Amino acid sequence: MKCVDVEMLELPQLLQEMERYAVAHDVPILNENGRRYYAQFIREAQPHRILELGTAIGYSALLALSLAPSNCVVDTVELSPERYAEAQANFARTTYGKRITQYLGDAGEVAARLAQEGRTYDFIFLDAAKAQYPDYFRKVTPMLEPDGTIVADNVLFRGYVHHPVMMPRRFETIVQRLQEYLKLVQTPPYETEIFPRGDGLARTRVRREGGTI
Ligand code: SAM
Repeated sequence: MKCVDVEMLELPQLLQEMERYAVAHDVPILNENGRRYYAQFIREAQPHRILELGTAIGYSALLALSLAPSNCVVDTVELSPERYAEAQANFARTTYGKRITQYLGDAGEVAARLAQEGRTYDFIFLDAAKAQYPDYFRKVTPMLEPDGTIVADNVLFRGYVHHPVMMPRRFETIVQRLQEYLKLVQTPPYETEIFPRGDGLARTRVRREGGTI
């Protein structure tokens, strides 16, 4: 029998290691400001079922589980087989990994499949292809529980979304789609707060009848 020796690490130690790895290998995980906001959103929402589009090496999934209730689970989607495998290896290094289900594939396609299967989530994190955010939003909203939260990273995209002056042409589509996304999430019944530090995070919730979120 082959014995696989997986080193079980304390989560803060693993997260720090992943932060260093991301810097050294240019992996775009949540930046320092993004982490702070994301941690605050998870603490406030106390979610039980998280859907994440854009796993990368698994940093934000583990950060969320470190702050969520102990029965919280994460479904996370990644397009790149290499990143999927790196995340899988990281998840295997902590007991939190048992509560994470990974999907390899296009986030929009996987989200549509999960919706068809009748899945629901109380916290959804959009962090895959920025130009696809409007499409992701349309696909994930049927799965959002009534008091749920949708968080999207990079919504201000280097400041160009609000100030597209001197913007390189290659960013035009991304910026237009992010502008479209911000319109969608600010149209009732949705209400959105934008946290401008970092690359811009948007937190969206459904306005309750006769009240505020
Ligand atoms: N959420 C991660 C974190 O903070 O630890 C960072 C995710 S990173 C910003 C975006 C990831 O989305 C990349 O790993 C990229 O390979 C993946 N991605 C890009 N396009 C995608 C798509 N169409 N479907 C699924 N994943 C995609």
